[in-house]
Amino acid sequence: MPTYFLSLLTIPISIALRLEKLMRDFLWKGSVNASGINLVAWRVLCLPNKGGGLGVRDLGLFNKALLRKWIWRSLEGYYEGVGGFMSTRIIPARELGNGGRTHFWHDEWCNQMPLRDKFPELFVLASYQEALVVDCLSPSPVGDAWSPIFRRGAQDWELEVFEEFFRLIQEVHPRSQEMDKWRWKKQGKGSFKVSTFYQSLMELGDPTFPWKEVWVNRVPSKVCFFGWAAVKGEILTIDNLRRRRRIVTEWCYMCKGNAETTDHLLIHYQVASELWSLVLSIFGVQWVMHVSVRELFACWSQAGCRGSRRIAWRAVPYVCFGVFRVKGICVRSRT
Ligand SMILES: [Zn+2]
Repeated sequence: MPTYFLSLLTIPISIALRLEKLMRDFLWKGSVNASGINLVAWRVLCLPNKGGGLGVRDLGLFNKALLRKWIWRSLEGYYEGVGGFMSTRIIPARELGNGGRTHFWHDEWCNQMPLRDKFPELFVLASYQEALVVDCLSPSPVGDAWSPIFRRGAQDWELEVFEEFFRLIQEVHPRSQEMDKWRWKKQGKGSFKVSTFYQSLMELGDPTFPWKEVWVNRVPSKVCFFGWAAVKGEILTIDNLRRRRRIVTEWCYMCKGNAETTDHLLIHYQVASELWSLVLSIFGVQWVMHVSVRELFACWSQAGCRGSRRIAWRAVPYVCFGVFRVKGICVRSRT
C-alpha cells in the first residue's frame, strides 16, 4: 500500500523523515521508545550492498523513481518537451523507426550523443537545425539515402569532419514501417525500470567494501549484519561509545589490558586469537592474522579451502565472532 501511494503522489519531506525515523528506531532499538544508539548513518544504510550499505530504500529517491514511470509511459504518446520531464543525467535515447518523431540534430539516435554535440561545426552550417530524421532522407532505387542540407558546401579543411559525419549516419538504416520509440539507455532491452532508475539516482558507495565475504549464504542475516557492522568498525565497543561521548573507562572489558576496539576484540584479544588459531588448524590453514577486521574479510575468500569445505570456510569468521555474543549483551547493558 505505501508503494502504491508513493507511485501516485510526491511524498512530503516531513512524512519521509518520520517514516525513516521509525525504520531507524526499529533497526537499532527494536521499538520507538527503547534506548539505543544509531551506529551507522541512514545515508550509508541506504547504499547498495555492493557499496557497503544495507540496501534500505531511500524513500525520497524511490518516490521519484516511481513517479518517473508515469512520465515514461506518457512519452510514447507525447514527444515535445521530454528533456524537461526527465532528469538531465538520464535522458532516454531514440530507437529509430521511420524518423518521423526524431530530431536529426538534437536527439540521440545514431551515436552515444546528439549529432549537434558530436559535430558542432556542422550543426552551425545546417540549413534547418530543427529538422526531423525523415526530412534528411531522400528516396532512391536502392532505398532511402541520407541527404542533410547545409547552407554551403564543404571547404577543404572540413572534408575530414564531413567524411566522418556521413560515415556515422550511413551505419543507421531507418525502418520505414515502424514508429520511432524511446529507448532506456540504462537497460539492455531499452524499457524503463523503476529499480534501474532508482539505482542510477543512488550513490555507488565504497566499491572496495568486501560485501561478498560479509553476506554469506546459509548464515543467518542477523549474524551477517553483525559482520557488516564489525567490518565498518561500528559495533558497541568502548572506543565507539567514547566517540559518542559516553563516559566509560577506556580499557578492554575482557582482558582489561588494552583499549577496546573492534579489531582488538574480534581478532587480537588473547581468547579470540586462540580461537582463530584453533579453527584455522582444523582447516589445516597457516594464517598470518590481519591488522583489521576489514582486511581480514577482504582477503578471506581468496584464501583457505576449496571444494566442498568452501561453504564452511566462508562461515568461519562468524563462528569465531560467535564467542562474543555474551560480550555484546554486556556492552549493551552499559549503554
Ligand atoms: Zn582485550
